[in-house]
Amino acid sequence: MLLLNCPYCGISGEETEFSPGGEAHIKRAAIESSDKEFEVYLFSRKNPKGVHFERWRHSSGCGKWFHVARSTTTLEIFGSYKAQTLIPPKELQKKIKEKFPNWGWEAGK
Ligand SMILES: [Zn+2]
Repeated sequence: MLLLNCPYCGISGEETEFSPGGEAHIKRAAIESSDKEFEVYLFSRKNPKGVHFERWRHSSGCGKWFHVARSTTTLEIFGSYKAQTLIPPKELQKKIKEKFPNWGWEAGK
């Protein structure tokens, strides 16, 4: 069971109070993109063993979307932040680095 925290209303709850929305930080393909670029945008997703960034919606609460960083191996939640944030907050990145020293944020990937 995952315990998530909504960064908008501050309420923590079990994952059943939230709805998953897939991988976070997906960059939308531009209109002039090739068919291959659209294919990657629409269908290619990471499935890492380790740190993963996901979208979640507080469906039983405020209804807003936000991002969660967690480990897919231990299910540890590193933190959550508002969906409009383009890069994970520095303090969250630091917290992840403490557990996974080789981890690094790659924008847009
Ligand atoms: Zn909320």
